[in-house]
Amino acid sequence: MDCLEFRRQLGAEPGRRDAAFLAHRDACPACAAAWTRAQQFERRLADALAVTPPPRLAERMLLAQATGERLARRKYLQRGLALAASAGGAFVLGRFLGTRDDDSESLRALAVAHLPGEAFALGLKQPIAVSAIEQGFLNRGIRLAASPPPDVTYVHDCPVGPYRTVHLVMQRGGLPVTVIYVVGHRNRAHDRFERAGWHGTVVPLRAGTLVAMAANPELLAGAVRDWRRSLDGPAAGGPLA
Ligand SMILES: [Zn+2]
Ligand SMILES: [Zn+2]
Repeated sequence: MDCLEFRRQLGAEPGRRDAAFLAHRDACPACAAAWTRAQQFERRLADALAVTPPPRLAERMLLAQATGERLARRKYLQRGLALAASAGGAFVLGRFLGTRDDDSESLRALAVAHLPGEAFALGLKQPIAVSAIEQGFLNRGIRLAASPPPDVTYVHDCPVGPYRTVHLVMQRGGLPVTVIYVVGHRNRAHDRFERAGWHGTVVPLRAGTLVAMAANPELLAGAVRDWRRSLDGPAAGGPLA
């Protein structure tokens, strides 16, 4: 696929994820940038259309996703899901932004609420280039000390509530593991949580905080270990997830 064809397809269907399309995105920095802009635009569009959702919508959507129900109906629901979930995400975000007194609680809630707006990222299967991952961190002023894990399929510099973050997705055993690295905000303590069908762990790491989330809690320790090694260097010790 060449750039022209990629841009045509991107314009017609920004959420598409067939192999040829994703391969070009991963190989071509200019088109990768256009792809990122298109996803952001989709999100802004969804936000603009958002109306007050019913209570607990975001949690219910996330739960449905975590149990795999999404897979069967993905194609049909893709756009509606992104739209509705984004509305729910904004709603949950708004609720928790006011409760900064509990630092850790706020970070957990914001991290989980961030997922539906980029629901498409959970389904990406194609590993992305190391250079793209490194650039994702460099955009936040962070140089990785060692190679990132090989199974990263998504990277994006996302604002999460008041925090600047690098948002990553890895595929492990057929399940997505989401990692949100919060830049320049070090959580007071190591913390675990379960919320809306997601298991999560919050780990102070370097000058920031790593939040890892997965439907299967057994995937968290490995994800934290890999990112600790990548951010701190191969000699890094310290507690795991
Ligand atoms: Zn291109
Ligand atoms: Zn994000």
